[in-house]
Amino acid sequence: MSRYRRPQRLNWGFAVVVSVLLAAAILITLADSMDFKFIPTWDEIFAETELADPVFTSADASVHIIDIGQGDSILIKTPEHNILIDAGERDKGAEVVSYLQSQDVMALDYIIATHPHADHIGGMSYVIEQMDVGSIIAPKVPDSITPTSKAYKNMLTAIQQKGLKIKLPKAGDVYNLEDGSQFTILGPVEPSTEMNNNSVVLKFEYGDISFVLTGDCEKDMENEILETGADVSADVLKLGHHGSNTSTGKAWLTTVSPSYAAISCGKDNSYGHPHKEVVSRLKEAGVTYYRTDLAGTIIFETDGTAIQVKTEK
Ligand SMILES: [Zn+2]
Repeated sequence: MSRYRRPQRLNWGFAVVVSVLLAAAILITLADSMDFKFIPTWDEIFAETELADPVFTSADASVHIIDIGQGDSILIKTPEHNILIDAGERDKGAEVVSYLQSQDVMALDYIIATHPHADHIGGMSYVIEQMDVGSIIAPKVPDSITPTSKAYKNMLTAIQQKGLKIKLPKAGDVYNLEDGSQFTILGPVEPSTEMNNNSVVLKFEYGDISFVLTGDCEKDMENEILETGADVSADVLKLGHHGSNTSTGKAWLTTVSPSYAAISCGKDNSYGHPHKEVVSRLKEAGVTYYRTDLAGTIIFETDGTAIQVKTEK
């Protein structure tokens, strides 16, 4: 009899052990699903972790859409040169200079004043007075619309006092900076009595990466540039005229065919920039876009093969 009982007692003990193990397994599973994870040791992490490849080790060139409210100011840093396009309104000159200094820019090889509207050249006299400047590129507008504004006069005075001369932008001119970067003037193709359509439009290239920067260029001028047959395709497009529906026509957007777009506009600006139609055009085209009124300063960095975007906010 006792021979039969022993195995029965053993079975009970076995059942208890199995139950305890099952309960433990259920508890562990529950704890895991409730996020009570076991904390790994340093050695485990060290053994299992490898450094991910960065997009690139050093950004050789960058394009900064500086947040100066309603207006434009863009810094291009190449391996060896600095270019400033526009300088915002009159009260923004000091902000632009302090931004340049924060980026270790103490001299500007080129200043490009896209067109003489105050939201582009207002701060320019201050910048020219404060910085070492190499060359200035600015369009000559028809006499009938030559501005009489203080901002314009101050800019011309600052240029003269520095002993500088203005170079005319000519569509097709290529400025090879001999550090792997270059910019090409796309427009103006010819002077226009519409001020915005005198904007300097240029394509900046570093390696395989390119940017089209447009000032306040409107659709008429976009079409004129397209008619020249110039290669306007680019990875990044700075939208014309702060995202206004006067600019970024379908043909232009399709031909530039950017992956990224930047809109330089002021928070709650009275013009309603960027306009809804333009934003929906970007969305339809699958373009990733950034706005200075929401993101602050936007920085596109590149090693010549890839782009990474950083925003202030
Ligand atoms: Zn403007």
